Amino acid sequence: MALEFWDIAADRLRKSLGNNNYKSWIEPLQLVGESAGTAEFFVPTSFFGNYVRQHFEDQILYQMRESGFEVTRVTFSVGRLDQEPVARPSSPAVVAPVKPREIQGAKLDKRFVFDNFVVGKPNELAHAAAKRVAEAGPVTFNPLFLYGGVGLGKTHLMHSIAWELQSNRPDINVMYLSAEQFMYRFVQALRERKMMDFKELFRSVDVLMVDDVQFIGGKDSTQEEFFHTFNALVDQNKQIIISADRAPGEIKQLEDRIASRLQCGLVVDLHPTTYELRLGILQSKIELYQSSYPGIDVRQEVVEFLAHRISTNVRVLEGALTRLFAFASLVGREITVELTQDCLSDILRASDRKVTVEEIQRKVSDHYNIRLSDMLGPKRLRSFARPRQIAMYLCKQLTSRSLPEIGRRFGGRDHTTVMHGVRKIEDLRNKDSQMSDDLDLLRRSLEA
Ligand code: ADP
Ligand code: MG
Repeated sequence: MALEFWDIAADRLRKSLGNNNYKSWIEPLQLVGESAGTAEFFVPTSFFGNYVRQHFEDQILYQMRESGFEVTRVTFSVGRLDQEPVARPSSPAVVAPVKPREIQGAKLDKRFVFDNFVVGKPNELAHAAAKRVAEAGPVTFNPLFLYGGVGLGKTHLMHSIAWELQSNRPDINVMYLSAEQFMYRFVQALRERKMMDFKELFRSVDVLMVDDVQFIGGKDSTQEEFFHTFNALVDQNKQIIISADRAPGEIKQLEDRIASRLQCGLVVDLHPTTYELRLGILQSKIELYQSSYPGIDVRQEVVEFLAHRISTNVRVLEGALTRLFAFASLVGREITVELTQDCLSDILRASDRKVTVEEIQRKVSDHYNIRLSDMLGPKRLRSFARPRQIAMYLCKQLTSRSLPEIGRRFGGRDHTTVMHGVRKIEDLRNKDSQMSDDLDLLRRSLEA
């Protein structure tokens, strides 16, 4: 039955994604099964799974629903239908001999473990709080409320807590689900007249985690039921962990009494990532990728380029990296800044910080104490030429202008002059630490 539905969904996907995408990415998917709102697919490689997750997950989910599946989530794991699934290296260790209890609710992503979470200033509090509740000691704050913008690691932290609890405390009942799934189950229980079962299930857990709770804003009966569940668990001193994209008081159409209950415990926000954190995350993801793509190297300047140019959303950063590795493995070339710019032009444009050529010229001439007219004029003295080259280099790095365009803005110079300048600075940057510090400083102040 499910396979028939999948045929219909696949056919719709062929139409919406085009034949090439369909052949490359959809046809190889093997539907393994479907339960509790999750459809599970086997994929040939982990790269393949990542790629499909990044690019087609929403479409797949949408077309499956349109074709009659009652799914809210799809998962991709490496395997073939005639084989056992391949265990991935990042899967958390299972503690012998007690087999941990299955986490109830939604499936957990194997990559979302504490070991893969890079800690920096913007997320250190959230991380510390998550670690604390994962110890399952006496409940000190209830609920733990994590909030922050999209792609800053809320779901990653929640899954990490669940994995950790599963291996350290196999005796306790953990339930993780999204607020949407909570609603879905609630509505289903109403429809099937199984409200008693529903209440019993939710009141029997020791740790309840509800992700993206902003979803219940405006959904009155779901809110009501959530509130009862919440209170019942808090009364029994059971740990609750909630995430949302904003602070409790700012969730639209959320009843005041619920908002104030949500604030009773510890409210921690994940701040937008900083340049330093993005660097750290990129480095750790590159190491992960390199185990599946041996031989592909990413230059340090590319890593810095990405950390500078891509927005604070880590999901976007990962998407960029996935594409870059796929591209490099196809063309079999080393990843350079140029290759990166070509391959990621759409992503870069979308998260462009909009630093202008004029700002760069002004900032650099201020920094080196020369007049703007000397930077743009014909003088070839080193004391003018060097800042000019630095400004050109920064224009290449921080704006999406082409070399000829940059040349035009520097007093009508030729693109080969710009290229020469950019190369020169790249070269100096690697040799001369003063130069590399200057560049960092300038970049930082331009982006502030
Ligand atoms: P949110 O739930 O806040 O929207 P996610 O937890 O889904 O964000 O994170 C988006 C992606 O970014 C995930 O693939 C996650 O692994 C990754 N990510 C976010 N923050 C970090 C971090 N600090 N270290 C490593 N990966 C991260
Ligand atoms: Mg999330």
